[in-house]
Amino acid sequence: MTWQFDTQVIHAGHPANDPTGSVTAPIYQTSTFRQTEPGVNGGYGYARTDHPTRHALEENLAALEGARYGLAFASGMAAIHGVLSTLKTGDHVVSTQDLYGGAWRIFTKFFAKFGIEFTFVDASSVEAVADAIRKETKLLWLETPSNPLLKITDITACARVARSRGVKTVVDNTFATPVLQRPIELGADLVVHSTTKYINGHSDTLGGAIITNDPALYADLKFFQNAIGAVPGPQDCFLILRGAKTLSLRMERHCSNAELLARFLSAHESVRRVYYPGLIDDPSHATARRQMTRFGAIVSFDLDASLEETRNFTRRVNLWTLAESLGSVKSLFCHPASMTHASVEPEVRRAVGISDSLIRLSAGLEDVRDLIEDLDQALAQTRRGKIRKTA
Ligand SMILES: *Cc1c(COP(=O)(O)O)cnc(C)c1O
Repeated sequence: MTWQFDTQVIHAGHPANDPTGSVTAPIYQTSTFRQTEPGVNGGYGYARTDHPTRHALEENLAALEGARYGLAFASGMAAIHGVLSTLKTGDHVVSTQDLYGGAWRIFTKFFAKFGIEFTFVDASSVEAVADAIRKETKLLWLETPSNPLLKITDITACARVARSRGVKTVVDNTFATPVLQRPIELGADLVVHSTTKYINGHSDTLGGAIITNDPALYADLKFFQNAIGAVPGPQDCFLILRGAKTLSLRMERHCSNAELLARFLSAHESVRRVYYPGLIDDPSHATARRQMTRFGAIVSFDLDASLEETRNFTRRVNLWTLAESLGSVKSLFCHPASMTHASVEPEVRRAVGISDSLIRLSAGLEDVRDLIEDLDQALAQTRRGKIRKTA
């Protein structure tokens, strides 16, 4: 029997027949498992290969994306590394251009060393994606909503083009979460997550995931996961599994808060532009409405201000925490040009549209009135500072 999503999230991976009757998946804090005879064990051998707490998490992750196979990693970057490990010298990847800074860094500074080539395109255009595919292309790497400009890629259309050219589609679904968007159901071959963000949701551990329905891909990824060894420990798996149970509920509040924040910012005179696919006049709104159930909880905006004024703005914000990362119960904000995207060269940042006055918000679960009031007072001071300077 297949359950509805909210039921799956609570039950998938939880032990039905634990000998103690434990209602939650226990933390098996062990590195190795006894063998009854050389080479024979009761299902687990060595904890890098598999262990029960990770197994429970992996089943839960697969269920979240409505897929057969889940693999848990020590971080989102370890999961991205896992996917790219299936490539070889001479292979080519087409990727979203405004993507997670760490993904851009591992592509261009690490995998490029091994002769893997990357082409970055504005993946909100299916034509741009199709034009970039060549005969060596093996992967199409999509991040939607993108980071930090919240552009939306039409997953169905891009995955169809990729498949017709023998290219596998990967979607980094960290921003949307499976509550809002299920890439595998839309035609993607692989989903990647930084479970550090919404799936865990409490800013208290790192984790990553790869999810797929493809048995051959799964077998390869499982082999590399064990060979490379960037796996999460039992405690981390427990925390992520615990977080996942409330993902659906948390996303409701995250999205409601973000919608109200986006509307507040759009109406503010000190804000030049708001990037949020939930706004009706956002260029990505129609596609977002088709493929997501809600619009997510990351909102970016350009201040009508210089770099110095933007940095001053970040000092005036009190309730929001200035920090890398996102998807926490606590509201976080960052200045991409000097934080999450500092590893991207300034010319590339500018070409992609990441300005020095861009601020990225991750709406938490606080009362939105407090969140708005805090931004309002910081924006008012920014505006007064400007008026003083021009007067
Ligand atoms: C944070 C993040 C990652 C990297 O995950 P870590 O857990 O920090 O290693 C990858 N993709 C996206 C979209 C992210 O936000």
